[in-house]
Amino acid sequence: MGPGPINADPRVLRAMSAQLLGQFDPQFRDYMRDTQALYRAVFETANVHTLCIDGTARSAIETVMVSLIEPGDRVLIASFGRFGQLKAEIARRAGAEVRVIEAEWGSVFDPAQIESAIKAFSPKLVACCQGDTSTTMLQPLQELGRLCRRHGAILQVDATASICGTPLPVDDWQIDCVTGALQKCLAGPSGIAPITLSDDLAKVIMRRRHVEEGLRPAGYQAGEGRIISSNYFDLAMIIDYWSERALNHHTEATTMLYAARECARIFLQEGHAQVFARHALASRAIVAALGAMKLRLFGDQSNKMPNVTGVWIPDGISSDRVRSAMLDEFNIEIGTSFGPLHGKIWRIGAMGYNARQDTVLVTLAALETVLAGEGYRFTRGAGIDSARAVYHAG
Ligand SMILES: *Cc1c(COP(=O)(O)O)cnc(C)c1O
Repeated sequence: MGPGPINADPRVLRAMSAQLLGQFDPQFRDYMRDTQALYRAVFETANVHTLCIDGTARSAIETVMVSLIEPGDRVLIASFGRFGQLKAEIARRAGAEVRVIEAEWGSVFDPAQIESAIKAFSPKLVACCQGDTSTTMLQPLQELGRLCRRHGAILQVDATASICGTPLPVDDWQIDCVTGALQKCLAGPSGIAPITLSDDLAKVIMRRRHVEEGLRPAGYQAGEGRIISSNYFDLAMIIDYWSERALNHHTEATTMLYAARECARIFLQEGHAQVFARHALASRAIVAALGAMKLRLFGDQSNKMPNVTGVWIPDGISSDRVRSAMLDEFNIEIGTSFGPLHGKIWRIGAMGYNARQDTVLVTLAALETVLAGEGYRFTRGAGIDSARAVYHAG
């Protein structure tokens, strides 16, 4: 019940125990096609280039960046937490000239702030998180895609922590590229990352590939299209591998693809609206309980992620002792955070398979008991009663 990874849905674990196949097995090619169609539905997109990268969330972020960025290209990172910093680091290593704008941890950007940075810097690529679990904040993205297109910039969104926990209609919001992972709201293991790319972005990447191959596309300029420095993360090769041409790239991580496919099937069977409502309800219950326990919530509550809640650790209470007691005595993991927030806040997650009434109530009951044992003074039972009231009201 922390910020992830979380428990996998048992259906996902069962899918992962199926026999292995190779990537050219006809049945496996069907699973790959299936998985593409399923993730088009998950991302609410018609993007042809919707596929999976074999690696954790950052492998998908890196794949896009190393495949798109040529040395000296400008990249603007809108960072509001640890994972914004990660994207800046990846972009720098890919050779970009990086500018980072930062929102104070616990807050997000007004789109106008991002727009003025785009105007001042004219980036090729703008990258940000939708939800940054390190701060539990959710960046509103409705306007950002349109805004980037108006200024000729590509928008890359890291939705690892938010995909399937909160709406992200990729086509509606005109987002060029979204990367995700299974280990947060998709209720699966880490190790494979679903990704979707607009046709225009895929064209930019394939054009670079053609230049590498010695072809000269229309409007070619000398020096354009320097070789993609990574073989494993060469998105042009990965697109060809997933396409009907099925050009060989790597040996498919079959078991991970079974997991990705099953996660999407589970999500779509429940339905976008129902899953989002389930996460929002868990969030309301946790927020109500923590408030009733006189704990102070962290960050701008109007832009809080629904699947994880940040709360200040009360004065005089040891973060480590509470977290250890939760884990050792109740088998429940909650998180603290990184950098300036380490040991200052706890992060309580309710996502994917764990965004359920029973898990939420048991976690809150355990937290009450442990905090009382540590000498924290509050009305015993107030938290759990408030959470139950939220669930009873629906
Ligand atoms: C959890 C998380 C990640 C995790 O990246 P991994 O490479 O899978 O460890 C990335 N981005 C965000 C926003 C996250 O919350």
